[in-house]
Amino acid sequence: MHNKTATEIHKHFIDGTLSAQAICKHFIKRCKEVEPSINALILLLEERAMKQAKMLDEKKARGEEVGLLAGVPVIIKDNMHIKGEKTTCASKMLENYTAPFDATVTRLIEEEDGIIIGKSNLDEFAMGSSTEYSYFKNTNNPWNTECSPGGSSGGSAAAVAGLMAPLSLGSDTGGSIRQPAAFCGVAGFKPTYGRVSRHGLVAFASSLDQIGPFAQSVEDIALMMNVIGKYCERDSTSINEEEDYTKHLGDSLKGKVIGIPQHLIEYTSDEGKEHFVKGIEKLKSLGATIDNSISLAFSEYSIAIYYILATAEASTNLARYDGIRYGHRSNKATNLAEVYKLSRTEGFGKEVKRRILLGTYVLSSGYQDAYFKQAQKVRTLCIKEYKEAFKKCDFIALPPTINSAFKRGENIDPIEMYRQDLFTISANLAGLPAISIPTGLTKDQLPMGIQLQAWQKEDANLLNCAHQLEKSLQFSDLYRIPNIEVKRG
Ligand code: GLN
Repeated sequence: MHNKTATEIHKHFIDGTLSAQAICKHFIKRCKEVEPSINALILLLEERAMKQAKMLDEKKARGEEVGLLAGVPVIIKDNMHIKGEKTTCASKMLENYTAPFDATVTRLIEEEDGIIIGKSNLDEFAMGSSTEYSYFKNTNNPWNTECSPGGSSGGSAAAVAGLMAPLSLGSDTGGSIRQPAAFCGVAGFKPTYGRVSRHGLVAFASSLDQIGPFAQSVEDIALMMNVIGKYCERDSTSINEEEDYTKHLGDSLKGKVIGIPQHLIEYTSDEGKEHFVKGIEKLKSLGATIDNSISLAFSEYSIAIYYILATAEASTNLARYDGIRYGHRSNKATNLAEVYKLSRTEGFGKEVKRRILLGTYVLSSGYQDAYFKQAQKVRTLCIKEYKEAFKKCDFIALPPTINSAFKRGENIDPIEMYRQDLFTISANLAGLPAISIPTGLTKDQLPMGIQLQAWQKEDANLLNCAHQLEKSLQFSDLYRIPNIEVKRG
């Protein structure tokens, strides 16, 4: 059963060949079997999920209408709220924090009868590219358990690759959905900024954060987007326009123009280039034409801009974890100043501290004009450049990553880790939809992918382009089950 896509599982539930309880029981068992070798989860919601499955079976038995995700198990990243359950952000700071309300995505999934079975591991507060900055555990890549699944949504990507659930949610501030999707051989989609509500997502860098799905197929991604890609009055940046994300699935790519910023491609590995070219050849065979003259010169500065803006926003967003309003409180403090100081020293990990320091620095008087304001200006130029580029093409193709999954423990230099996001950050800076889908395996049997981007609000067209390409690449048909060791008992 765990080989099936969300769309297939939903059909089985509807036609009565599988009950929600049978599906849920199976996936919980599957999670328990593979979790010791993958470490994807922070929380397994067995009791809660089984109760919901029972209620759903009863609802169906009464003849009531059921939702778009009825019967489908879902795993969400542990930086999104489920009322009454823990939201840890993989941080000691929030180790004992219980969510007082549902995130909008949680509410929407449950309104459509999806069943949330667990919460997945991440880099602390979603800062990182390997999931190694989690306070709790390292997640392993299901294709090779010595490798990182990428990050920061590494748990959600590994969970789908390890067939622990057909759908999961991650958050992408600078690449945290697309990079782990590429490392784990699954599809990962970052929607247009504002498409998915951030209400109930713990903020990292609010002008860049965006929730999006992981799945084995683009069709499943579109299904999940029809559930979560809705206007929300509790998020002031939410786009107030109806969208059917499946409406273009099936359109031809004939006449579509794919832009390639050639000057960026050289930054990926040789195997990365091979896989990129393979994807481009397939797009051509589907009738698309290629424009090699696209320039994204400012993308070369994207990492520098991002690590000023994202850390600045993080430094203000994380100020609330002071041991008083939120988070861990030190019991060693003897006065108020020490409560602040020691709670933060004990509660945050080293990468989070590094970012708070950097962000505070670039916002401090004297440096604000030199760094923060300057970075804002370059961000605007980056958006303008994309706008010009999309006058010449419908989609832009890039590698999702500079390399395939690296070994855990290998990428410890923070600057090297920051370079992971070279191809992904610019879409966050410009608020664009972008997707990574797998193209095949490297010589070392690790997945590689291709990334496609489109102009703001072109999500539905972009999903179709990825869907057509995915069908012609046949990755998920050929390599459906990663070679994971299942430790029982
Ligand atoms: N790897 C990037 C960072 O460390 C992106 C993180 C993200 O998208 N959440 O900030």
